Amino acid sequence: MLSYQHAYHAGNFADVHKHLVLHAVLDHLLRKRSAVTFVDTHSGRGVYPLDAPETLRLGEYRHGVLPLWQARDRLADEPLLSAWLDDIARLQRGGSRLERYPGSPWWLAQRLRSGDRLRLYELHPGEHDVLLQQALPPNAQRIHGDGLGGLIQALPVSTPRLCVLIDPSFERKEEYVGAAETLLTAMRKARHGVVLVWYPLLPAGRHHALLERLREGGLRKIWRSELTLRAPDEERGMYGSGMLVVNPPWGLDKRLAAVMARVTPLLGEACRYRADWWVEE
Ligand code: SAM
Repeated sequence: MLSYQHAYHAGNFADVHKHLVLHAVLDHLLRKRSAVTFVDTHSGRGVYPLDAPETLRLGEYRHGVLPLWQARDRLADEPLLSAWLDDIARLQRGGSRLERYPGSPWWLAQRLRSGDRLRLYELHPGEHDVLLQQALPPNAQRIHGDGLGGLIQALPVSTPRLCVLIDPSFERKEEYVGAAETLLTAMRKARHGVVLVWYPLLPAGRHHALLERLREGGLRKIWRSELTLRAPDEERGMYGSGMLVVNPPWGLDKRLAAVMARVTPLLGEACRYRADWWVEE
């Protein structure tokens, strides 16, 4: 079953959280010259026009990226956040209106250096077709297929460093443990890789299966970052966004805390950010 389409949610608060963490990790990794292979196991379309009927239907970006975009002059003194907003500005076709929001393939591809590699997996044929239409550098490879199996097959990579984003749609509850099992296998093959895993915070609390499996599996150095909009509430579904970073770059926690202190007031009075070690070194 592949019914999820990210266009319905593009630019929402969870994308803001996920892509800010990704941006911060990239910033740290790209300070060193040695090449990196980036793997995006669940790529989606790559770029999302905000006037697409699917995106307008829920209009989630209006409570996600839009308030940050509108406040960008006031946010100019926060270095990571202003660089992130400048990147979004580069994707617009001019003017001050926010017309397009970038997905993870774009965030990864636009910072790719000539020696780096990027593998973009997408299983949905329609989503993959849209991804094929995006202008990406030649060292970005688009693969129509299962990203979890693809990641394991691709390891070990030929570059000295590896960075992976695992961002499933979690349509089925088995996907939580499935993502954890893939991560445990991947880390046996690439111990020093930096891996980001996104998960939704839903009232049913299914993400606990993912977190617990990783702890039971003996994986170390797992940092957890969560952004919540409100208390769990059965009727309104996803109340928060979670992100794990395995082998986080040093200093990531402090940089993100500074960024999120500026972001949370713009996403609502009840919006909160917290981060801690899920499993320490
Ligand atoms: N990572 C994207 C971003 O940040 O812009 C969003 C990805 S969206 C949450 C999840 C995507 O995974 C969907 O486009 C879905 O079609 C795709 N998908 C679902 N199962 C997959 C699998 N096993 N392998 C690769 N892609 C998959």
